[in-house]
Amino acid sequence: MRHFAVVGSGPAGFYTAEALEKAYGDAARIDILDRYPVPYGLIRFGVAPDHQSLKAVSKRYDKVAESAGVDFIGNVTVGRDVSVAELLDLYDAVILAIGAPRDRKLGIPGEELPGVVGSAEFVGWYNGHPDFAELDPPLDGTHAAVIGNGNVALDCARILSKTRHEFEGSDIVGHALEALDRSAIRTVTILGRRGPHQIAMTPKELGELGHLEATLPLVDLSDFPPREADEALEPGQRKSVAILREFNDIRANKPKSMIFDFFAKPLRIEGDGKAERIIVERTELDEKGGARGTGETYEVPASLVITAIGYWTPPIDGVAYDERGTRFLNDNGKIADRLYAVGWARRGPTGTIGTNRPDGYEVADRIAAELPPEGESDRPGAEGLKRLLDSRRVMATDYDDWRKIEETETARARPGSPREKFVRHEEWLQTLGR
Ligand SMILES: Cc1cc2nc3c(=O)[nH]c(=O)nc-3n(C[C@H](O)[C@H](O)[C@H](O)COP(=O)(O)OP(=O)(O)OC[C@H]3O[C@@H](n4cnc5c(N)ncnc54)[C@H](O)[C@@H]3O)c2cc1C
Repeated sequence: MRHFAVVGSGPAGFYTAEALEKAYGDAARIDILDRYPVPYGLIRFGVAPDHQSLKAVSKRYDKVAESAGVDFIGNVTVGRDVSVAELLDLYDAVILAIGAPRDRKLGIPGEELPGVVGSAEFVGWYNGHPDFAELDPPLDGTHAAVIGNGNVALDCARILSKTRHEFEGSDIVGHALEALDRSAIRTVTILGRRGPHQIAMTPKELGELGHLEATLPLVDLSDFPPREADEALEPGQRKSVAILREFNDIRANKPKSMIFDFFAKPLRIEGDGKAERIIVERTELDEKGGARGTGETYEVPASLVITAIGYWTPPIDGVAYDERGTRFLNDNGKIADRLYAVGWARRGPTGTIGTNRPDGYEVADRIAAELPPEGESDRPGAEGLKRLLDSRRVMATDYDDWRKIEETETARARPGSPREKFVRHEEWLQTLGR
């Protein structure tokens, strides 16, 4: 019997566990550890609450968690409650799937002003992440800005722009729904350093914006290259650019607007003790397709500034770390002997949920080649881990505990919502009577 510890229960962790189970059958026991008693990582805490169909992928992960060879061990933070070195003593291999939960910084003056928040914080706030329950983003001004030109920026801008009615059927947490309902924000500006051809936004996410109840998406066609140039784009990107162009044809009067401000590089954030405006430099594309400042500057008013420019993986003691790439240093998923990385902790914060599947399968294949299923292990696996956690008074939870939390959240949902998430760590533990 082999014993594997997968650290992190997001998509990468679950796809890896699924692949290991397929590769080893009943010759392995796989423990999926997570710092929270609730699994699924960004499926719960990142993917937008109004995109319920995407969150349904967790049903597939449920099947993995329910299978005989797999256990979920929650409420255990690796690097704090147990070290990676200890896990390597207890298990035949350890696979780090901890994602990239920290916001990248812009590195410009004024970034520390109240009113400037990272997308991980803002997204965590509306998705019930316990670290951000108290965020209380300022929604009392009329202007907000989102910095970044990817889908996370679009999620943030869309959530700020929807009416209460448009959140029906979503699992947005109650505190965010109430705050957004009272929000005074009328204009959200999305700032991107380069142009429409360089966006990292996908057609589905852009297409939704044309149908918002109270918000009109606005583009300036002079930012776009001649229409013929779109032909050279790959089909998905071409479609995204076509959707952006079509925003200019929408004829409707709506009280709110979402402005796409391209070729706009934030230089600093200013205000009297809090964010009030962003000073932006107009850019143009350089020979290599990067953004080059033109020297022309202007102001974008914003009392809420959300930065959505990427994420990084926090280092863990004793694990090789790629300072430049902000993820674990790895060679195609291998960090060191019997230690591997998958998902965002391996590749950095790019790709969709589905991208993590081949990633997890590839690393599982590599593990199976290096630790053949027929080999015997003299390591204790979960039994040893539980002894260690008990000795440290760490209250580990299991999959049944998660089911109980889920049932309680479902039972207390407001009408039309699949659940009302708990937003504090203690609430999870109280639900479990701990
Ligand atoms: C805001 C946002 C919206 C997104 N929307 C979409 C979308 O609509 N469609 C789509 O296809 N993709 C979307 N993505 C991308 C998708 O969420 C990622 O591709 C995917 O979640 C990455 O999987 P992961 O397992 O590497 O990381 P994560 O999902 O982040 O999972 C990491 C897990 O590790 C756990 N963990 C972290 N540190 C520790 C530790 N020290 N000890 C124990 N456990 C730990 C965390 O609690 C978490 O459960 C979105 C991403 C973001 C940020």
